[in-house]
Amino acid sequence: MRLLLIGPPGSGKGTQAGIISKKLHVPHISSGDMLRETISKGNSLGKEAEHYMSQGALVPDKLVIKIIMERLAEPDAKAGFLLDGFPRTVPQAEALDNELHKCHHNIDAVVKIEVPDGNIIERISGRRVDPETKKIYHVKFNPPPKEIADRVIQRGDDNEETLRNRLEKYHSDTAPLIDYYEERGLLTRVAGIGKVEEVTQRIIDATKIKDRL
Ligand code: AMP
Repeated sequence: MRLLLIGPPGSGKGTQAGIISKKLHVPHISSGDMLRETISKGNSLGKEAEHYMSQGALVPDKLVIKIIMERLAEPDAKAGFLLDGFPRTVPQAEALDNELHKCHHNIDAVVKIEVPDGNIIERISGRRVDPETKKIYHVKFNPPPKEIADRVIQRGDDNEETLRNRLEKYHSDTAPLIDYYEERGLLTRVAGIGKVEEVTQRIIDATKIKDRL
């Protein structure tokens, strides 16, 4: 199955993608995680990505498309994948379509996780990530277990000013993407508020995932 998750920062995309990709036995491909990995390598590509990410701006399409297309060409992504955070712009969606069409593949569903901007600040300010497993926690809603509580970190771009830019970017650049997938009959909207398990169930109910479990 080829599934895309779209949603504002803090909508729970990463958490839901982790759960659902395991259920579907497909790789969870997060553009944000891949970019952070590129940054950690310290090469020129990473330096360029960091310049944009630290301000909450989108990384240029060309760079993100290159990273994601290389990842999709790996053997484990051939039979399906769950993309989290990519595409974020119409040119990225077009690049993905072109690549899939070359292999006569299609996207099965695009899930838009909806969370009001008001809830996002609270979610993001309490978000913590385990650098080893990449698992996402929240100091209040989903605290990390004691044994890893000392190693969880807060992402550098999870601060209020950067978040405001990321939300603005989400609304301006991602809105045309919503129309793009709606026109193709692929878009499903899911409420992202409530418990993690409730949102997972909504995603399963709204897509054909249950036929593949
Ligand atoms: P995320 O982990 O999905 O919240 O992404 C963190 C940051 O990575 C974003 O604020 C962007 O700067 C960058 N980023 C992630 N995915 C993309 C994408 N598809 N296009 C452009 N920039 C991206």
